[in-house]
This record gives sequence, C-alpha cells and structure tokens, in this order.
Amino acid sequence: MASNLSLYNSLSRIKQPFEPIHEGHVGMYVCGPTVYGDAHLGHARAAITFDTLFRYLTHLGYKVRYVRNITDVGHLEHDSDDGEDKIQKKARLEQLEPMEVVQFYLNRYHDDMKRLNVLPPSIEPHASGHIIEQIEYIKKILEAGYAYESNGSVYFDVPKYNQDHPYGKLSGRNIDDMISATRELDGQDEKHSPLDFALWKKASPEHIMHWPSPWGEGFPGWHLECSTMGEKYLGETFDIHGGGLDLLFPHHECEIAQSVAAQGHDAVKYWVHNNMITIDGKKMGKSYNNFITLEQFFSGDHPLLEGPVSPMVIRFFILQAHYRGLLDFSYPALMASEKALQKLTDTYRRLGSLLPAEKSTIEVPDFMSLAYEAMDDDMNTPKVISILFDASKIINSASAGEVKLSKNDITKLRNLFDIFLINLLGMNIGSESEGGNATKAYEGAVDLLMEIRKNAKAQKDWTTSDLIRDRLSNLGFDIKDTKNGVEWSVK
Ligand code: ZN
Repeated sequence: MASNLSLYNSLSRIKQPFEPIHEGHVGMYVCGPTVYGDAHLGHARAAITFDTLFRYLTHLGYKVRYVRNITDVGHLEHDSDDGEDKIQKKARLEQLEPMEVVQFYLNRYHDDMKRLNVLPPSIEPHASGHIIEQIEYIKKILEAGYAYESNGSVYFDVPKYNQDHPYGKLSGRNIDDMISATRELDGQDEKHSPLDFALWKKASPEHIMHWPSPWGEGFPGWHLECSTMGEKYLGETFDIHGGGLDLLFPHHECEIAQSVAAQGHDAVKYWVHNNMITIDGKKMGKSYNNFITLEQFFSGDHPLLEGPVSPMVIRFFILQAHYRGLLDFSYPALMASEKALQKLTDTYRRLGSLLPAEKSTIEVPDFMSLAYEAMDDDMNTPKVISILFDASKIINSASAGEVKLSKNDITKLRNLFDIFLINLLGMNIGSESEGGNATKAYEGAVDLLMEIRKNAKAQKDWTTSDLIRDRLSNLGFDIKDTKNGVEWSVK
C-alpha cells in the first residue's frame, strides 16, 4: 500500500516521514495509566489517539508490537521524591492490599477501553512485575557514573549527565532555568541537586510496597519502569514512544536521560504526544468540580451532563480534533458530535441499500486518496471526518434519487466508509460486536415496520400505514418516501 506517513516528532519539532527501524516492523511504547482511580476523558484521549495510530500502522501492513504499561508502583503524589505512592495511599485509605487496588481499577479501565472500542495492546507489562530488570538498569546507570547512592536511595545525577548530554532536549528546557525555578536544598537533603530524581527509593517503615535491592529495601522511581520495559520488549532502540503531553516533562525527559546514561544512546526515534482536554475552558481536576469519569459519561450521572453519552460519541468527539491540539469539552460540543456521528451512521446505512445504475451521473472525487493523504499528514483525523462528510453529500443525493451512481462508485464509497469510519476511526456502528448487534437488530426492526407499511399501502390499508408513520414520527423518526422506496433516519 502506498503511504507516506509523517509524524510530528516532539524532539525535532518538525514533521518527519515515518521510517521504522526494522523494515515492516514497528515498536511502539505508550505510557499507560497509573491505576488508582477511574479513568476519565484524559485517559480516553491518550488511549484513543494511540489506538488510532496502532490501527493505521497495522492497516498499512506493518507488524506492530504495541506495549502499553501499567504503573502500579512508584508514582508518587506531587511528582516529587518525597510524596506518598498513589496506589499505596488508596490502599491505606480503603484498607486494601495495594494489588487489590490495582486489579480493581485495571479491570474497570479495561471495561472502559473495550466500550470505547480501543484495541488491547500487544503487551501490557506491570512495573511491579519488572523489579529485577529495573535494579539491573540502575546498576548500568551507576556504572556509567550518572547516578549515586545516598542513604539507601539511588538518584540520577542530572548536572553530571548534562555535562556530557543535553538534559531538556525534548521539552526544550534549559538546566540553568530549571535550577533557578526549584527550591534550594536544605542541607538535610539526600540529593546533590534539586534536579536529581530517584531511581530507587529507600522504603520508610510504613511503606508497604517494597523489594530487596543491593541498596536495601525499597522501590523503583516512577520514570525508570518505562526505560526498562521499553528496552526489554522493544529493544535498545525502537520507533515510537507516546503519551499525554503532561508526561513530556519531567517523565519523558527523565526517560531519555536514563536510556542515554545506561545504553550510551537514545532509545526512541519518534516521540508522539497527545494534547490535553479542558472542560468548559478550565483545566480538568477534582478541585475544579469538573472531573467526569468515563463511567459517569456512560451513565449520565454527573451534574455537567444531561444524560448518558454513548462511548462512540466520546470517541468521535475526541477524533474530531487533531491529537496535538487542545480539546475543550462542553456538553453542547458533545451533543454536536452526537448529531454529526448520527448523520454519518445514517449515511453508512443508506450506502448499504443504494441500487447501482448503469453509470454515474456525476463525477465522484477520489475520496480514498484524499483520506489516506490526511492520515499520512500527522494523523489528521478531523480532515478524514470532513472527507467522509463530503462523500456523504453524494451518497445522500443518490439515496434521494437526485443523482445516480455506478456499481464501481458505490463500491469505492463503501470501501471508504469501511476503511476509514469503521476500521481506522474505530466507529463501532453496525459491526458484529455487542453494540453493533443491537444496532443491527434495531435497524432490522424498523426496516420490518417499513415493509409492513409498504404492504398496507399496496392494499390501500391507510389506517395501518398512517399508524406506523405517525407512531414512528412521534418516537423521533424521520420517514420519507423516495423514488427508491422508503428512507428513514432518526431526527
Ligand atoms: Zn512512562
């Protein structure tokens, strides 16, 4: 398949034609969730962005190994080295075993992802299952001279590293500015510099998640798991590393420093970051009272929502924006997405019942090439959606009998919708899955009513035909008699 995917690389800040390291094979690592609470819209955006990239690379014929980790240890509150582990805190408050917290929220996360039609990654490694590998990785950094042991903990020596390699190259930050922005060390601190970060933390007596190490009982620092598991499953150098823009600094910057220190070279060829979601123009957060979990979207149980929102509407809403742009959520914006998706769904259904003509009465543009071009241009999903709407105009005119389409043109349009709307954008409408079966059954039932109405009309049984039309109209259906028969849609 001819394609020239370009990805915006955060490191170089230019768009680069995508060239995988091993021909035909792509290694992709994406920072997954820290599982200590329900997933929200931010989790959905990251998962959907990389799911779409995963789907597209696979569609282009690459064999993709997609690794998405589970952070279940070492992610501390306040992103500083002296906070409490987020999972341990939840376990303490709810009197649960930490792994109970992890399993509980991981099961819920998987349920949410399934409903959003996010495909499972190839490997989903847990940080807590890779303690030995992380200890070995720390040893390599110590041997290279870029880390030091201090009171049972091991810290990465940022100033020392910066003498040999630029620290801050991903985020474009400069070490002097960073130092002036951080608090002074108070002399009691184990760290040599405020910029140094923990590779291994000594466990305090109340800490329940700890493992033995050459430096004593402790646990790994959060940034370490991704460098370690990326190398373990994708090799010393791999193609794509993704995550939310909020992870760019310090998490990904620290990952780069760790892998350069341990391996002597960069691990990642392309850094891809999805932008954040704001709610009514404000940052999303529990303190802003605008924190909506995916569960709450699906049930409609939140003051900012007027009813349940279908997972496919959330997915469509997210893909209507380019992944690198900030996306602002509001209930009216979500409802506009619902309408837009309903239009495409109606069109897709009409496409299935179009009758071909000898030849087309209009020239159908090459939508397929335009859609591939849009995906190749840094995964421009909003452009793909607008191309589907352009194609919809022609399909709907044909369905209304205003224009005629040849069999060849109808096949091309069907392929366009099957590949781009169903497969790549992942809209689970009318497919064989659970939601698709329900849609199929519902459409079949309405089609059956249309058939009964048609027979009633043929027998001049106006009472029955009017009853069906009026009752369906009251239920919100729009019924039109066209040259091709009867057309129905939801108003
Ligand atoms: Zn990570």
